[in-house]
Order: sequence, then structure tokens, then C-alpha cells
Amino acid sequence: TEELLRKSDKLAVVGQLAAGVAHEIRNPLTSIKGFAQLMKNRLPEYNHYLDIMLSELDRIEFIMNEFLVLAKPQAVKFVKTDLQELLGDIVALLETQAIINNVQIITEYEDNLPNITCETNRLKQVFINVMKNAIEAMPDGGNLRIRTERAGADLVRVRVLDDGCGIHPERIPKLGEPFYTTKERGTGLGLMVSYKIIKDHQGDIRFKSRLGEGTTVEVELPIIQDSKNVLTVGDVG
Ligand code: ADP
Ligand code: MG
Repeated sequence: TEELLRKSDKLAVVGQLAAGVAHEIRNPLTSIKGFAQLMKNRLPEYNHYLDIMLSELDRIEFIMNEFLVLAKPQAVKFVKTDLQELLGDIVALLETQAIINNVQIITEYEDNLPNITCETNRLKQVFINVMKNAIEAMPDGGNLRIRTERAGADLVRVRVLDDGCGIHPERIPKLGEPFYTTKERGTGLGLMVSYKIIKDHQGDIRFKSRLGEGTTVEVELPIIQDSKNVLTVGDVG
């Protein structure tokens, strides 16, 4: 719990600051992107450089958007959601990336899984991050399994299993820390954002891993949100 506390303190500070900065950067960024696009059309001989500029600007935008998730939500909307349908959307979204990486996605869904109350788009982002990490952990291909089950009266559980590179046991506490990444082009923001979203859902996210064998990410979510939480709808501080 000490570890968790430290992590959420850090999240609160980094989150507020970063979300504020991200917001301020977004407008100038949009204008730079617009002009780069314009130059690309007018100056074909510089296309190569402008393409690089545009792709780097996309990367900045991507990172900014991750931070904006940490900002106070403008309109939180918890709605009844079919979790397996939501997972299906993500599988469809990641299918191309999986095929390119020789990864097979296998879904093992429990029948009659109850709908849950959640912020659909934010929850999608969690599973996109987790499944992308799983695919990235299997550069030589492998199986990505997605399992759902009811976990008691009030909970559902989603497990995402890969047989990829695994995580060193000493590194597991670092997961979710801002900027913790082992990838050359990683941001180390995906799990930070995921922790925050799952926490906002009063859920739990856990990692079990064996180096060289694979990783299981376990996400537990309450079926029905505490009314206290749902009442934060539109509660902009
Ligand atoms: P990024 O993917 O940009 O590196 P994340 O926050 O998504 O940032 O992940 C942080 C780090 O956690 C990754 O760099 C990786 O070292 C580790 N990690 C996360 N998921 C997995 C996984 N399924 N298998 C192996 N390592 C993982
Ligand atoms: Mg990631």
C-alpha cells in the first residue's frame, strides 16, 4: 500500500501539472501542424522534411492527449456497457497490428457476463494500452488471450495474457510511474493513464509476470458504480 500511495501522490501532482501544460500546448501545436501541412502542399521539394515534422508533431499531440486524460474530466459519463462488446471493438482496432506482428488474438468470454457501469471511452483506452503492450512484448509473435469472468457478486474481471518477454519482478512496482518505459519509442504514459482510469472506476489493475514467459494483466471492475462516483457527472471543479 505504501507503494500505491506513493504512486497516486505522484500521479496527482504530475497529472495536474501536465494536464495544464498539455492544454496550453494544444492550440499552438494545432497551428504549427496546419502550417506544416500547408507548406507540404506548396513546397513538394521539402516533402521529406515536412513529413518528418508532421509525424513528430503527431507524436507530441499523442503524448499531450495522454496527459489530458489526467485533467479534471469535463463531463464524466458513466453508462451501462457490454464489456465484451467493448473488448471486441478493441480487438478489431488492433487486429492489423496483431497480424503484422504474427500475434494471434484469442478471446475466451464468459457467457452472460453482466453489463457494467463505466466511462466507455476511457475504459477502451485502458484496454488499448494493455493490449498494445502485450503485442509489443511479443516481437516474434505469440498468443494474446483475453478472458472475461464474473468475480463475485459485484465484480467482473478481465485478464489479458501474453507469452511475451515478461517483466522483471523488481520492475513491477515501477509500472504506472510516469515515464517508466523500456522501449526505444515508448512514452511510459500508457499504464500511468490506465491506473488513473481504473482508479476512477474504483477498480483494480494488477500485473503477474515471469521473465521470458509472459505477462498477465488483471483488471477488476465493479459492476455498478458507487452512486457517489456516478454523481460526479458534470461536476467540474
Ligand atoms: P510504453 O508502452 O510507452 O513503454 P507503458 O506505460 O504502456 O509505456 O508501459 C511501461 C512499461 O511496462 C513498458 O515499457 C514495458 O517495459 C512494461 N510492460 C507493460 N506491459 C508489458 C507486457 N505485457 N509485457 C512486458 N512488459 C510490459
Ligand atoms: Mg504502452
